[in-house]
Amino acid sequence: MQAIDTLTPCPCGNSAGYARCCGPLHAGEAATSAEVLMRSRYSAYVLKREDYLLATWHASTRPASLKLAAQQPAPTWLGLEVRRHEQDGEHATVEFIARLRYGGGKAQRMHEISRFVREQGRWYYLDGQFPES
Ligand SMILES: [Zn+2]
Repeated sequence: MQAIDTLTPCPCGNSAGYARCCGPLHAGEAATSAEVLMRSRYSAYVLKREDYLLATWHASTRPASLKLAAQQPAPTWLGLEVRRHEQDGEHATVEFIARLRYGGGKAQRMHEISRFVREQGRWYYLDGQFPES
């Protein structure tokens, strides 16, 4: 785990680097907003931190497993762009575009509008919609 402490920029794109961005969240710190949580979940996909993705997924919609390690072809994550973040009390919406490539395939965009909910001071991913873009 030593190597990822030096990831600069952070996998989510923050120039501050992993140790000052998504790293503390992956170590258990609570996200201060749904956008911060969303970014840390993107980084978790990059780093294949399935445990973190499941832990930040709301119990009502959480899959049993993501089988990230078994994904073939494995995705290469190319970047994240957060388009919009709206919070209304304990609910929030984050719209983003993630770019990725499967194996040697073409780069593609994943456009998602994610919903988040906060319970006992912690944000959780609820579900997402995939608008035509
Ligand atoms: Zn980050």
